[in-house]
Amino acid sequence: MSASRLRTVDAPRPADLPSTPTAFLAGLGRPTLLRIPGRDRSRVRVVTTLLHGNEPSGLRALHAWLRSDPAPAVDVIAIIAAVETALHGDGFVHRALPGRRDLNRCFFGPADDPEGSLAAAILEALRAAAPEAVIDIHNNTGHNPAYAVGPHAGERELALCAHFGDRFVHSTLRLGALVEATIGFAPSATIEVGRAGDPAADRTALAGLESYVAADDPTAAPEGDRTMQVYQDPRRVSLRPGFSLAFADAPVEGADLTIRADVERHNFVTVAAGEPIGWVRADVERPLEVRCADGRDHTDDSFAISEGRLALRRGGVPIMVTTNADVARSDCLFYLVQPVAMETSKRRPEDADSSQDPASQI
Ligand SMILES: [Zn+2]
Repeated sequence: MSASRLRTVDAPRPADLPSTPTAFLAGLGRPTLLRIPGRDRSRVRVVTTLLHGNEPSGLRALHAWLRSDPAPAVDVIAIIAAVETALHGDGFVHRALPGRRDLNRCFFGPADDPEGSLAAAILEALRAAAPEAVIDIHNNTGHNPAYAVGPHAGERELALCAHFGDRFVHSTLRLGALVEATIGFAPSATIEVGRAGDPAADRTALAGLESYVAADDPTAAPEGDRTMQVYQDPRRVSLRPGFSLAFADAPVEGADLTIRADVERHNFVTVAAGEPIGWVRADVERPLEVRCADGRDHTDDSFAISEGRLALRRGGVPIMVTTNADVARSDCLFYLVQPVAMETSKRRPEDADSSQDPASQI
């Protein structure tokens, strides 16, 4: 019943595909599962994308790849999910349809609305396919290098993500995301390829996709000894309801909390304890809330306010930083993570540079 909204298209012919991703999307019209036959028909791997309507890199990568007359190593199932959301308004504007649930928060139900029903249909199709791996391609709103997020940081997941980048955020936050639900039957990860609209993010998505579908075993360690930096213990930093927020280079009059406008430059860059990241209005207390994966409140041991300046109590690495006030209000400002110590002998020289300038890695 719920699967009726998810249309299946078998072996689309490259010559039949519109020449632009937007025309391709309009032609799909609704959530679509594409099956692309591979050389080995006995195995299948999955790529999902466009769970958020304003994150086009995965769709663009899939469109370019499908038009290249692909011959993947094994059968590929590609799911293009929030098609109506992406088509709404001027196109690629809305993360979710106005007034409706975020599709990538619906994978643990309930299934009694269109988003929950679509999530259930996607899961049902993927479980039936028994894939050897699942990747879900997203964009993010800030400047950052490509990185993966997943609920399990095993060797196979890290190898899977190495097709796209060299950073992995191990998150046990239970948000209702697709990969939290698929991890039970296949190595799975969310891939954040970079900022929506950035051609570099589109290139990362396409290069990663081509590598992923061409590999004999996508969960085997790639050649070249690529080292993944793993981050752990994500703490979600959000604005408390009722407080006002601004992004600026100095305290904004009337704003309860002003976050430094250049905060997104700290994406994946360590921020030292005591380094100011914003300003809090004089009579305002605790405008932020910090919670870890199990829901415990870490606000007071994460942040200190001194003479109106907001700073971290201990060093940490902000990721998924947004300077979009709407996203910050409706979702969160950023996550704070801690890098897992790496074996220094395996670290490559360029890693030292990339920690200074993550944008150079996109
Ligand atoms: Zn997304």
